Amino acid sequence: MILEHDVLVIGAGLAGLRAAIESRRAGVDVAVLSKVYPVRSHTNAAQGGINAALSEGDSWESHAFDTIKGSDYLGDQDAIEVLCSEAPNDIIELENMGVVFNRDEEGRLGSRAFGGASYARTYFVADITGQALLHVGYDQALKHDITIYSEWFATDLLMEDGACRGCVAIEMRTGEVHVVRAKAVILAAGGAGRAYEPSTNALICTGDGMALAYHVGAPLMDMEMVQYHPTTLPSNGALLTEGARGEGAYLLNSEGERFMQRYAPNMMELASRDVVSRSEQTEINEGRGLNGCVLLDCRHLGEQVIKAKLRQILELAHDFANIDLMKEPVPIRPGYHYIMGGIKTDIQGRTAVEGLYAVGETACVSVHGGNRLGANSLLELVTFGRRSGAAAAEYSKTAKHSRYGEERATEEERKIAALMDVAQAPSPAGNGHSEMAGPLRLEMGRAMHNNVGVYRTEEGLQTALANVLTLKQRFRNVGLQDKGKVWNTNLIQALELGNMLEVAEAICRGALLRKESRGAHYRLDYPKRDDENWLKHTLVYYNGEDEPRFDTLPVTITRWAPQERKY
Ligand SMILES: Cc1cc2nc3c(=O)[nH]c(=O)nc-3n(C[C@H](O)[C@H](O)[C@H](O)COP(=O)(O)OP(=O)(O)OC[C@H]3O[C@@H](n4cnc5c(N)ncnc54)[C@H](O)[C@@H]3O)c2cc1C
Repeated sequence: MILEHDVLVIGAGLAGLRAAIESRRAGVDVAVLSKVYPVRSHTNAAQGGINAALSEGDSWESHAFDTIKGSDYLGDQDAIEVLCSEAPNDIIELENMGVVFNRDEEGRLGSRAFGGASYARTYFVADITGQALLHVGYDQALKHDITIYSEWFATDLLMEDGACRGCVAIEMRTGEVHVVRAKAVILAAGGAGRAYEPSTNALICTGDGMALAYHVGAPLMDMEMVQYHPTTLPSNGALLTEGARGEGAYLLNSEGERFMQRYAPNMMELASRDVVSRSEQTEINEGRGLNGCVLLDCRHLGEQVIKAKLRQILELAHDFANIDLMKEPVPIRPGYHYIMGGIKTDIQGRTAVEGLYAVGETACVSVHGGNRLGANSLLELVTFGRRSGAAAAEYSKTAKHSRYGEERATEEERKIAALMDVAQAPSPAGNGHSEMAGPLRLEMGRAMHNNVGVYRTEEGLQTALANVLTLKQRFRNVGLQDKGKVWNTNLIQALELGNMLEVAEAICRGALLRKESRGAHYRLDYPKRDDENWLKHTLVYYNGEDEPRFDTLPVTITRWAPQERKY
């Protein structure tokens, strides 16, 4: 089937939905295409809240400074100024759209403290903020009459005369391949958290958007900047929100000591995430942990606060650690959570490829730099979703539709058929069996976690890269057990693995390139931040079968000169 829209948004998380609504408001025809039903997008998992300087006494400049300091001065200050100055109106608009934020005793929007923030400016809906926002975003998309292709998987972008003009996608229910023509495309396909194992991210976070853009020439920026969240469960990597520490929970070591006083005496548990995760890892490495963990203690918050504001993590701790947060501290450790890097964009969401925009976790407009502050991601989705939606709509008004037709669908069908055939091919091991996507993904995830985590070294990074490159070779021999067309998750998982391997390679290469320690990227062999040589972004370009091409780009500084970072 050939479909045609003015603007096509790939991704129905909050970034995609917000972008789509804004494009629609500009009067153009808009479609959203998503591999999961929209409200199952990963935004759903966001717990703690969304930032804005809305209260009396707070200011957007203070929010901007905290964000820049949190980013370890790698965030682009022009983008951060946009984010923080536009945040208050964006939050009010969300409320007007129907988000029921928590309120304080006097009926005003209630806020909580979050890490790295000098003011309590995180607005929240208990600890299900993402779910509340996503449902309202979806309601609004329906209200705005936006076409939604739900459970469609984008496999490729359509490129014509150097511009992006749509995508090719599999309708998962039927297995049919369709060509979706569009005058502008917005990638809002989320993060790449499943390139790591374990991870706080859902199985759907597989870096598809980054791989799609990378393959058509858009560079990926600062991919080495990967955030480990301080409070994840050891059993399955699930996250316990920073909102717990925002409400006053403590971090304790095996000696019962609030160890953050050694590392961040002013902000304690609410220092930025990179600092807290490193401190925890140091405690564990130096023998003051418990079975590879430290403890999160919520007991003193009391039943009322826990049940009213932290009810999801009460359940998570109970279900996955068998612990009652009201009676016992829960063992936690740093775990993969978020990627600050992504498809490089400007503040209108434009990528280096004409007609192609990107927003949300898949993108890097560079508001998080080396370390994202908690609750700034949801804000980025809304602010830059709105901006990229408006910019793409405007562009689409003068752009032309693609001439591509069914031949692109047929080409994709041939690639899928070739993948189906692999199972008959002999494997490199010579045992007559092809590789399976699942075990390869696990190997990749473990190699990344073991070598490209909280602490890094040249040797470890080289090991991870070598593993990823070997896995890329083995991936050529991945076969499918399910040869059917209808709802073939086996096929989707194989395609996702291909995307994750690209992203994992870009992360390793970025980390090898950056020979300093900044934000979440801490190299034991280069333990200092080096502003003279590395106050710049890393860029990775796809180069076919050859090694990727690299470049760097200066950081945009508007008014906050880099300083030593202390919490
Ligand atoms: C447990 C957890 C808690 C968090 N809590 C907070 C918080 O309190 N505050 C905060 O600011 N941030 C938080 N974050 C981060 C934040 O939730 C995410 O960064 C953000 O929701 C990402 O939104 P997105 O719209 O970019 O992508 P997502 O919500 O991940 O949506 C991606 C969309 O792309 C679609 N897609 C992907 N690939 C394809 C493809 N190939 N074809 C078609 N569609 C595709 C998916 O179907 C989905 O609709 C949290 C993250 C986690 C993991």
